Amino acid sequence: MKSLKKYILNRSGHFGIYGGRYIPETLIPIMENLELEFYRAIKDKDFKLELSNLNKNYTGRPTPLYFCENLTKKVGGAKIYLKNEGLAHTGAHKINHCLGQALLAKRLGKTRLIAETGAGQHGLAVSAVAAKMGFSCTIYMGEKDFLRQKPNVFFMERAGAKVIPVLEGGRTLKDAISAALRDLMSDPLNTHYLLGTVCGPHPYPVMNAYFQSVIGREVKKQITPDYLIASVGGGSNAMGLFYEFLDDKSLEMIGVEAGGRGITEDSKKCEHAARFETGTLGVTEGFKSFFLQNEDGQIKNTHSISAGLDYSGVGPQISYLRDIGRIKTSYALDSDVLNAYQLLAKEEGIFAALESSHAVAEAIRLAATLPKEKIIVFNCSGRGDKDLFIVAKELDSENFKNFLKTQI
Ligand SMILES: *Cc1c(COP(=O)(O)O)cnc(C)c1O
Repeated sequence: MKSLKKYILNRSGHFGIYGGRYIPETLIPIMENLELEFYRAIKDKDFKLELSNLNKNYTGRPTPLYFCENLTKKVGGAKIYLKNEGLAHTGAHKINHCLGQALLAKRLGKTRLIAETGAGQHGLAVSAVAAKMGFSCTIYMGEKDFLRQKPNVFFMERAGAKVIPVLEGGRTLKDAISAALRDLMSDPLNTHYLLGTVCGPHPYPVMNAYFQSVIGREVKKQITPDYLIASVGGGSNAMGLFYEFLDDKSLEMIGVEAGGRGITEDSKKCEHAARFETGTLGVTEGFKSFFLQNEDGQIKNTHSISAGLDYSGVGPQISYLRDIGRIKTSYALDSDVLNAYQLLAKEEGIFAALESSHAVAEAIRLAATLPKEKIIVFNCSGRGDKDLFIVAKELDSENFKNFLKTQI
């Protein structure tokens, strides 16, 4: 293979044995249209200019690369740098692919955006972009998530989105995805389904990897790293950081999955979301990759302290890059993640999202084993404001409960 960068954006949407487009026939023309317009757009100077203007003026790019000097001293090994996607508008990297896809939707003459969301971070970014660009917007959320992620629901509604709780199945993310696909089938002409990570049928993995690749492109201008680390839910912030460096053979890349309460082979209870630890090959939600599933291919309920990594599947490009040894994967337990969150806050005054804190945990672990001149960059994919309720419950339970009581 000559260029991995080229291959990862290839037009077939297959990456080794992974990827593809396993969807109902009625959706095929929609995906073909989207694919065509995407490859056309990324060769179009006006499209690229409009996107880079939005990245600059709406999102606030480039995001800073920050040397964690205190943390580095504390750990006593390699230099630890943080790519601060938490400073991007709406608080995470998700805005990157939302802007890109929304511009494509405009080119396709669509008038409404729909999306699935679990924790609500993706829904929030879609709602913001829809408000800015004048789309109507419908967000599907499993009823369980709808009830436990009130702050994000609140902000989506302020931006004018209609947030619909999905009552089918386990009432979580996978049910929201099914509902969004049904919606798309019922009104394919006017609707763009703005899928939120590097999963789903072709061209979503390719498109989102492309739109997120701005992260690594900036890093390459900011520093020359030896190691890159990113958390892996679906894989979009990892693909975003890694993409630009895929052909740089000297550099190591590590994706960190959610180890939850621990990796067990127990077939009934899955208290983690580490697809590469106990997952198997399968086809779900339109693509082939690794999934946490039972022997019948039914998707398991997963667990992570971070809602954004609490997902049973992983992007096909990530699975492929791991197969060929280009990236490595590891996992961090909930307890490691809380410690990492607390340490970064104490040492640097930076409150990382719990998803990103998985990357922090791995950066700390790795740095301690490396000489001082080595450089680690981890992706701080989001800021931690959204996790207030979870972190406060874990780290300051009594005071927080009392505060909530006074608010009622
Ligand atoms: C959604 C989210 C993730 C996980 O999704 P990826 O597609 O794997 O990046 C990670 N971090 C933050 C802050 C998120 O909001």
